[in-house]
Amino acid sequence: MKTDVVIVGAGPAGMFAAHELATKSNLKITVIDWGPDVAKRKCPAMIYSYCSKCSPCKIMCGVGGAGTLSSGLLNLRPDIGGNLEEFVSRDEAWELVKEVDKVFLKYGAPSKIYRANTDQVESLMRKAAAVGIEFVPIPQRHIGTDNAPKVIAEFKKALEQVNVKFILGMKVVDFKKGEVKLENGQKIQTKYIIVAPGRIGAQWLQEQAKKLGIKTHPQPIDIGVRVEVPAVVMEPVIKIAKDPKFRVYTKTFDDLTRVFCVNYRGFVVQEVYGDIVGVNGHTLIKQKSENANFAFLVRVELTEPLEDTTAYGFSIAKLATTIGGGKPILQRLGDLKKGRRSTWSRIDRSNVKPTLRDVTPGDVAMALPHRIVTDILEGLEKLDYVMPGVASSSALIYAPEIKFYANRVEVNENLETSVENIFVAGDGAGLSRGIVTAAATGILAARGILRKEGKL
Ligand SMILES: Cc1cc2nc3c(=O)[nH]c(=O)nc-3n(C[C@H](O)[C@H](O)[C@H](O)COP(=O)(O)OP(=O)(O)OC[C@H]3O[C@@H](n4cnc5c(N)ncnc54)[C@H](O)[C@@H]3O)c2cc1C
Repeated sequence: MKTDVVIVGAGPAGMFAAHELATKSNLKITVIDWGPDVAKRKCPAMIYSYCSKCSPCKIMCGVGGAGTLSSGLLNLRPDIGGNLEEFVSRDEAWELVKEVDKVFLKYGAPSKIYRANTDQVESLMRKAAAVGIEFVPIPQRHIGTDNAPKVIAEFKKALEQVNVKFILGMKVVDFKKGEVKLENGQKIQTKYIIVAPGRIGAQWLQEQAKKLGIKTHPQPIDIGVRVEVPAVVMEPVIKIAKDPKFRVYTKTFDDLTRVFCVNYRGFVVQEVYGDIVGVNGHTLIKQKSENANFAFLVRVELTEPLEDTTAYGFSIAKLATTIGGGKPILQRLGDLKKGRRSTWSRIDRSNVKPTLRDVTPGDVAMALPHRIVTDILEGLEKLDYVMPGVASSSALIYAPEIKFYANRVEVNENLETSVENIFVAGDGAGLSRGIVTAAATGILAARGILRKEGKL
């Protein structure tokens, strides 16, 4: 079989790359995805907010990619979920966000944008800035669980109408300049390849890159805890921003800590990676808790001699798993501050009831490095000025919560790798961490091809 462009992955990066190419050229485009079509992507579990995983079903694979079919929250800023300004100017980055949003709107995303009232945002920003915290307001469009499959199906239909061909339920096992090999042994000859395999294909992409001599670099990771407080503590801020993001630099180490993945009236959940455990959070549609939880994470970047942040993160998670006897560790903040472990009786006396009980009451300071614990304590103290109560003694701290990111594939400004005509895009190449930014990198890779074809 012969085509002009093969796109590996039908997530936001792959679909937006196909859209850009198909609407601006006559190139023959083939999108290949390991997972099924939208209609066959059924997830039996209840659907979560932004940060949960549901790996046994097809949440990570298939048309629409990962996450798009769950809450489908579009963060309409170029510096959330990655940073598009690493590839284009600030103006172009904002323009890309608008283009992505326009396409989602065209295929049925709701017109409502969650944008906080300017006065309220300004007052929160002022309050935060007074203690050295940055509050990041984000206009958001919520495609929504029920609507997402329809939007993606419409988008795919429109791509097919402009002659984009989809090969689904088929894994790409190998690629090199001019050729892509499928798991059934079929080889496709193609002039260009855009590899956009998402997080689920990140490891495979890394192996392929190594084989082809394309350089990849580890990225910073985020290590920290999940904090759980009574929902009322976060209510005033939630009224201003549905998923508030704060960035705090800490006093002792000047490290970046941040509030991420807020689940108002949500639940803390266990996350298992092989033999290690961690935590995450989610909100359920039908069930609400009395609490709110959020990840409080410290950015960790390593240089020589150990650049491999993933290995570092795993070693911390392993230690925490050992200390917790195979379960996440739970500690009251007051106990952490006093340097004593928590016990069930202390926790049960607390006014915050844990939403995750399959944990071991213990001492987070035994599991996480001193620098990270210091950052967490100092960061929460500052945050307490903005959300009074988050640093109270009864706040619950679950550990570890670690966010790993794919290694970044080395690319030029067109997102082309060192192998001519092989481009990468999206989360799997370490270029993005969210729907909008992934989609934008797909557009950029497509524009790289259009430039080569003299269409731009
Ligand atoms: C449960 C969940 C909820 C999320 N919610 C949100 C949210 O609300 N807002 C937000 O901004 N982000 C969210 N995210 C993150 C977001 O989904 C991703 O950032 C985004 O989908 C990345 O897009 P992508 O195109 O790079 O990769 P993906 O969307 O992961 O798509 C990659 C595709 O490539 C396919 N693939 C991989 N390897 C191969 C191969 N070898 N051969 C063929 N096909 C292959 C996969 O099957 C997959 O369909 C969520 C993630 C999850 C898991």
